[in-house]
Amino acid sequence: MNADVIIVGAGAAGIAAAIELQSTNLTFVILEARDRIGGRAYTDRETFAPARVDLGASWIHSYGPQNILYSFHQSLKSEDTERRIGGTQLCLDYDGKRFSHEAMFQARDIYLQIDEHIESYRSSKEAEEDQSIQQIMQEIYDRLVPNNGPVKRLVDLYLSSSEQYDAADFAQLSGKQWGVGAADGGDFWVPSGYGNLLERIAEKHNLPIELNTLVTRIDTTDPERIEITTSNNSSKIHCRRVIITIPLGCLKHETITFQPPLPDWKRQAIDQMGMGLMNKLIIKFPVCFWNENVACFVHACNERRGRFRFALCLPPPENILIFLVTGSFAHELEVLSDTETIEQIMKFLRQIFPEKTIPDPTHYRLTRWAHDPLSYGSYSYFSVNTGPHTIELLARETSDGRVQWAGEHANVDDGIHQWSYGCVHSAFQSGQRAAKNIQSQLCTS
Ligand SMILES: Cc1cc2nc3c(=O)[nH]c(=O)nc-3n(C[C@H](O)[C@H](O)[C@H](O)COP(=O)(O)OP(=O)(O)OC[C@H]3O[C@@H](n4cnc5c(N)ncnc54)[C@H](O)[C@@H]3O)c2cc1C
Repeated sequence: MNADVIIVGAGAAGIAAAIELQSTNLTFVILEARDRIGGRAYTDRETFAPARVDLGASWIHSYGPQNILYSFHQSLKSEDTERRIGGTQLCLDYDGKRFSHEAMFQARDIYLQIDEHIESYRSSKEAEEDQSIQQIMQEIYDRLVPNNGPVKRLVDLYLSSSEQYDAADFAQLSGKQWGVGAADGGDFWVPSGYGNLLERIAEKHNLPIELNTLVTRIDTTDPERIEITTSNNSSKIHCRRVIITIPLGCLKHETITFQPPLPDWKRQAIDQMGMGLMNKLIIKFPVCFWNENVACFVHACNERRGRFRFALCLPPPENILIFLVTGSFAHELEVLSDTETIEQIMKFLRQIFPEKTIPDPTHYRLTRWAHDPLSYGSYSYFSVNTGPHTIELLARETSDGRVQWAGEHANVDDGIHQWSYGCVHSAFQSGQRAAKNIQSQLCTS
């Protein structure tokens, strides 16, 4: 199986690269280690059937013409109703009680002052040295936030939404990159599944994909041809160009050996960029014991800006709660058994709905993205001292342009679409860019 171009990975970036190459006369194949496509956009159709639940991405962020995936979704959306998650939000204190208006007002005011403080650090030219969000806000937090009580819990809850979004703790997140590259605009929850959408896009384009093919080594020492070794093939694959779209977590774990080794600047960028962790704890109940008009609830807590702080509620007949857990708490849960985690969740639910009799779940699925050897995490974030310049290095070609890099962590601004990182559409955009680079190298007369 030799080809002009080999694409490693059939997630959003690999699929986009392949679609782009279809407009050329180059031969190409995608090599994918899993027995399915979509990577971190994966819809589970079995566990909660007939309901479909995404184990990875579920929202098309910045949904609109500025999003590269918008037109793909519009052309294929026949399966999707217009249901959007994000209606009524229930805000609960640690014991399940509602907050007073006064506490909410006070907490909001304090939160805005902290936010403004971080924002002024970010935009200040004097702030030469980067610091973590935790360091930047520590002094103003200690000064403004009471030591305990509902206002403290609420400020923590408001602050937690940024940690939630970046899938990392404030102690890891760069202050200089506060809010940089965050998806802007409305989010569209894909009812039929974001993973399912990627599958339909790939099917429509009839892409050549070899599943169950783990790439283990890429050798570029021969200037005439690149040699690729896979786990299921004793003979080597040869190509002229390769597009690598494996997750940042896999690059950090050096799951592919490069010969010659990657240049220092690339290795450093890989090491420095953060790989966040978001897991989904998806639980189905025999009855809906919460108010079925509530689309999600957020929960304030005395510890660490919240534990089970955000849950999406899928109403009857689905009766499903989807907890999104992130950062260090998500890492801690990953090493527990399913039974231990479910016990924690049930204890939590019985605490916040004390007046309800809550039945045991009928089905559940808990993701462990940090332990997935084909991902090693959920999506990238800006750790201290990284920024768009780090992404530029992650995206920069190597081996005289014969090796191209793509993925959610390697999306540079194309000057056309709104720039973002960490998202499915960022990955898609990066794949198109990598393929276009190859096209301009090999397809000019
Ligand atoms: C829980 C969770 C929630 C998320 N929520 C959202 C959301 O709502 N909206 C959003 O836009 N984004 C979200 N994301 C992020 C989004 O899923 C990713 O940014 C995006 O899917 C990454 O696409 P990619 O092509 O860069 O990588 P991937 O999708 O990971 O694709 C890389 C592929 O490479 C394969 N691979 C790895 N190693 C090898 C190898 N050695 N040989 C061959 N194949 C290999 C992998 O199996 C994988 O299929 C979420 C992610 C998670 C985990």
